[in-house]
Amino acid sequence: MTATLHEELAALCSRFFSGELSDEEWALLQIHLAYCDPCHQDFIKRNHIKAAEETSQGWSIQSWD
Ligand SMILES: [Zn+2]
Repeated sequence: MTATLHEELAALCSRFFSGELSDEEWALLQIHLAYCDPCHQDFIKRNHIKAAEETSQGWSIQSWD
């Protein structure tokens, strides 16, 4: 694995969370996450933040019903 590849995958990780990733890029990202612990930890952390944001949005929508 090269540092360049790692940086590319870190960029893919960011784009995943803004919903800009193609299926092919998502496949590449998943392969990288499987063996790259720093990226995997970062991905998990961001995924928790994203899930928390979606949950809080869900609550605010429910409160208007
Ligand atoms: Zn990595």
